[in-house]
Amino acid sequence: MSHAASSLVVLFDIDGTLVTCHGAGRVAIVEAFAEVTGGREALEGIAFAGMTDRAIVRAGLATGSWSRGGADDEALIDEVLARYLMHLPRALSDKAPRVFPGAVTLVQHVSGRPDTAVGLGTGNIAAGAKHKLLAAGLWQRFAFGGFGSDREDRAALLEVGAQRGAAHLSRPRRETKVVIVGDTPKDVRAAQAIGARCLAVASPHYPFEALRDAGADLTVSDLADPDALAFFD
Ligand SMILES: [Mg+2]
Repeated sequence: MSHAASSLVVLFDIDGTLVTCHGAGRVAIVEAFAEVTGGREALEGIAFAGMTDRAIVRAGLATGSWSRGGADDEALIDEVLARYLMHLPRALSDKAPRVFPGAVTLVQHVSGRPDTAVGLGTGNIAAGAKHKLLAAGLWQRFAFGGFGSDREDRAALLEVGAQRGAAHLSRPRRETKVVIVGDTPKDVRAAQAIGARCLAVASPHYPFEALRDAGADLTVSDLADPDALAFFD
């Protein structure tokens, strides 16, 4: 990657990339959804990975008819997300998030790169991202981000993060390169949609081949792989 002389914005996904919260996010959103709609099973068949929080709630609403509202009821979605934030700290406190191997070293490495802004690019609403990363001890490492509370579409929220990163560098967005670090094909495709490169980290859910085939510029089995560091040189 010939980034040596160019401004760079790096956006890290949270769940499955930096940390696992052991399903705490799912527990909290299922509880919130059940309280607001009465539907406890609606989210069961939905794979949350790579989805924004708002899209998850909307998908749950689309699975059935509730006593209140449907998939286009924005106020109802807001209510579920507000309750989700009430449940999330307790769900996180049941078991501390685990930071994945190599994640801290990579963030430190990239943060030390000249003319580089390091932020988040995540489908989590911003307040939820803060809860998760505070619990993991990582929140202070990120100065800005694009969040699920900024845009429901993943590519659009990454673009928001890219613009904030460019502002952080006092550079025009068009003069910055962007790298997305993520763990799902959705991350890879959203990166491509905004003209960013993508470093993908494989998992049992989304193995090496799936990420490579989606078009990731580099796929690693974990972030401790030296190739992950070298990707930013
Ligand atoms: Mg993820």
